[in-house]
Amino acid sequence: MASVEQAPTAQAQEATGIPVENPATGKVIATVPTFGVDEVKQVVARARAAQPAWEALGFEERGRVLLRAQKWVTDHADRIIETIVSETGKTVEDAQLAEVMYAAGAFGFWAKQAPELLADEHVKSANLLVRGKRLVVRYRPVGVVGVIGPWNFPLTNSFGDCIPALAAGNAVVLKPSEVTPLTSLLMAGALRESGVPEDVFQVATGDGATGAALVDEVDFIMFTGSTRTGRKVAERAARTLTPFGLELGGKDPMIVLADADIERAANAAAYYSMNNGGQVCISIERVYVEAPVYDQFVTSVTEKIQGLRQGPSTGAGSVDVGAVTFPPQLEIIRAHVADAVGKGASVLTGGKVGGGPGRFFEPTVLVDVDHSMTCMTEETFGPTLPIMKVADAEEALTLANDSPYGLQASVWTKDVARGEELARRVEAGAVCINDAQVNYTVLELPMGGWKASGLGTRHGAGGIRKYTQQQALLTTRLAPKKDPHMFPYSARKTGVMGRLIKLLYGRGKRA
Ligand code: NAD
Repeated sequence: MASVEQAPTAQAQEATGIPVENPATGKVIATVPTFGVDEVKQVVARARAAQPAWEALGFEERGRVLLRAQKWVTDHADRIIETIVSETGKTVEDAQLAEVMYAAGAFGFWAKQAPELLADEHVKSANLLVRGKRLVVRYRPVGVVGVIGPWNFPLTNSFGDCIPALAAGNAVVLKPSEVTPLTSLLMAGALRESGVPEDVFQVATGDGATGAALVDEVDFIMFTGSTRTGRKVAERAARTLTPFGLELGGKDPMIVLADADIERAANAAAYYSMNNGGQVCISIERVYVEAPVYDQFVTSVTEKIQGLRQGPSTGAGSVDVGAVTFPPQLEIIRAHVADAVGKGASVLTGGKVGGGPGRFFEPTVLVDVDHSMTCMTEETFGPTLPIMKVADAEEALTLANDSPYGLQASVWTKDVARGEELARRVEAGAVCINDAQVNYTVLELPMGGWKASGLGTRHGAGGIRKYTQQQALLTTRLAPKKDPHMFPYSARKTGVMGRLIKLLYGRGKRA
């Protein structure tokens, strides 16, 4: 178990403590310091001093360190899972599959991909003026990257974004959610043990004010969290023209067509709406089902969700659905269900706050829902599944796109060509056909929201290049003493240039 001792408390002399609670039991399990503005400045200054040596190590040596960290994660998987479960209240399986497995894979992926994705690119130009010149795009680490994370995946969504930033040669300061800081502190120790030099990776615990202070100090800010806070981060970053990436909220639609494999679609709807207690940015948050298969789908999903076991995780296989991690979230979930019921929706299973000292909401299926209800239009971020009957695929598509969000979506049909055609018309950064969420584990694929769900991407080439600055290099090796376009200007040269432009571009052909 990570503890306060691992937090850099000496750096936070004026710190006030933040209690960390186990949401499944209601017990306070640790207290961590709040870093003030001055502490954040000091942490970033130390990161800045440590960064050049880390960059100078080169890809190969940094890769070796990252692979040692990968081994650390697999060697200490149980300890990491225990820490995550204790501060989030999620199940062992949710911590294992979506966090430990992700992080272990990410260390290897970025160690291997960084040298390729950030290698110098030699460019050829069609421009006659630069014939014979050497043209190179070079990727240089920005310096110090600040990462601000949410509470739903303390390893994957907070720490995960630090891995490519480190692989690129940056120092990183991570501000985890005040609700779940312990996993990040554990990983700070893990990186030191694996050979990451002192101050190259640091954790600044604290609340929103700590996050805001970090935005002011760093060279790139990677933010994952709510759309509301994302806007504040963007405004703040604009003051210093600090580049940023935003991975924000979602309201992912699932479209079930009449020819879908209903059994698979129902299993997936149950799993991808309830895993991690429904607290996944890419949870299935609303379902549109074509009328002919609506009853069959609803019956099947409801049976599956009724059978789920919920409670504090006491070990592998003990429960299916965990706790509500963030205290105010429980009221949001309750309010969405109450709003729906008040406007005519029916609860087929669940619908209430669960009992016990921990914080739970029963796995819930809602029907007779429409877009006048918050459960269909606002992010619920809990174990609820509202299902709506639609006349056809076009109505489903219109409703799916009737959202300020555009994070992810899924289309279910045996006609995969039609499914893909429909998917291309969904306004979302990622769409799965006959699947959901697993695209997040494909680090080769970009992951990022459209509309109010974010700016930029994680994963793929963009997921590491964003932590660098592009530099264009143009080298002239053999050249005359004077190029034809240089001074003095003359009518003859201008005339030649005019004819040349016409010859090159005047026929509507590609140069
Ligand atoms: P949040 O926006 O409340 O907080 C996120 C982080 O921002 C926390 O560390 C918080 O301390 C910090 N913060 C708060 N105010 C700040 C400010 N003014 N300046 C800088 N930092 C500040 O989000 P949350 O409740 O922790 O997380 C849940 C949200 O995250 C959901 O909306 C979910 O969809 C989203 N999320 C998105 C993704 C994605 O990849 N798109 C992944 C996971 C979670």
